[in-house]
Amino acid sequence: MSKEQKEQISQEDNLTMKRQNAALKLSDEEIKAAFEFCHGYMQFMSQAKTEREINIYAIKEAEKNGFKKFNFGDKLSVGDKIYYDNRGKSVILAVIGSDPISEGINLTAAHIDSPRLDLKENPLYENEELALFKTHYYGGIKKYQWTTVPLSLHGVIIKQNGEKITVNIGEDNGDPVFVVSDLLPHLAQDQMKRPSPEIIRGEELNIIVGSLSVKDKDIDKKVKYNILKILNEKYGIVERDFLSAELEAVPAYKPKDIGFDRSLIGAYGHDDKVCAYPELRAILDIKNPKKTAVAVLTDKEETGSDGNTGLASSYLKYFIEDISETLGSNFRTVISKSKCLSADVNSAFDPTFPDVFERANSSFINYGVVVTKFTGSRGKSGTSDANAEFAGEIHHLFDKENVIWQNGELGRVDLGGGGTVALFMANMNMDVIDVGVPVLAMHAPFEIVSKIDTYMAYKAFYAFQK
Ligand code: MN
Ligand code: MN
Repeated sequence: MSKEQKEQISQEDNLTMKRQNAALKLSDEEIKAAFEFCHGYMQFMSQAKTEREINIYAIKEAEKNGFKKFNFGDKLSVGDKIYYDNRGKSVILAVIGSDPISEGINLTAAHIDSPRLDLKENPLYENEELALFKTHYYGGIKKYQWTTVPLSLHGVIIKQNGEKITVNIGEDNGDPVFVVSDLLPHLAQDQMKRPSPEIIRGEELNIIVGSLSVKDKDIDKKVKYNILKILNEKYGIVERDFLSAELEAVPAYKPKDIGFDRSLIGAYGHDDKVCAYPELRAILDIKNPKKTAVAVLTDKEETGSDGNTGLASSYLKYFIEDISETLGSNFRTVISKSKCLSADVNSAFDPTFPDVFERANSSFINYGVVVTKFTGSRGKSGTSDANAEFAGEIHHLFDKENVIWQNGELGRVDLGGGGTVALFMANMNMDVIDVGVPVLAMHAPFEIVSKIDTYMAYKAFYAFQK
């Protein structure tokens, strides 16, 4: 090959963007590091499944790593590590950097709520001598997927005397689980003709919780009564206490390796724990950052971020405002110079359903963390759409720090859409772009991610804040 031919080929190499599987680029040691990181992720996933449980986990890990509880007005200095607990359902961690805070903060934002079945306010009833819970699903689900899945129950009940009871049943070996039934195929002719959003209707997502009658003749609903008796013995609650409870039914199983090569992880709630966990690990691991690093683990993303524990509320804004003033600046100055990675998942290209994706602009399993410039639907409605300048800055940072990343849109134009917390961050007046892990079967009771991509999310958040 002549010198000119060689030069021409190398020029073509640079001219054309190559999207390549990360497994081809990584050393065996790096792949091993990814698998080891995910071992920790899977342990986390098996102990913390809901926003309240992740909040507790994050605070415990933070305290282990020298973070102190922050109260508005506390004095702060360089190197301080603090956390702020918002109502036990969202949490902010921060490491005060050596640069003046007026230079801005580096923020990562992931959500710790996932789609699930919430119990209704007055959930318990008996029908044909079965005891059941009525539910109201939370977040965007395909309702039919949630039948015949073993479910555990998580949450809190506030008794009339104000005492808070924590519920976690169905996770430990030996615990009972709960389940929504489905119709046998033999009798499902009519059901299978329903439009698919209605194969299982919202009011059919009823969870079986018991079947044994008390022998007492005078009691009308004997199975329900027996359940109330058991709950009273176990938790000291009465039926009315359900009115002041938050109880969530989630899949009861633990995360599992998927595949002969164990390269993938199947679990409930990767969206968005697969970004929340790397984000948490990254802020726990950073030492002496220049810019103040802030990580928020928020609630309520799956229902639109409204509510006082969601990012449409002011809790994060007030936190930034308070630390800004404590450190001698003000919110407006700080926020306008701040940068955010909105840490949320994207949809991975699924070879079984290729028609909903546009290959060149989709993310792929094992191609690294996805940088998503915009989300939204119907002509980019509901997106913050990152500025090209900021997109370029993040791409350059990831290249420099050997973070393997890819681009990706959710799917084909006009087929649907979705959003993240990015717009709430952008609306405060900071630069923001979505960075997260590609997921197969998103919002299903068992979602799938790659170990390499999950590790790249950690490397990305760490590189951004270190
Ligand atoms: Mn999400
Ligand atoms: Mn989601």
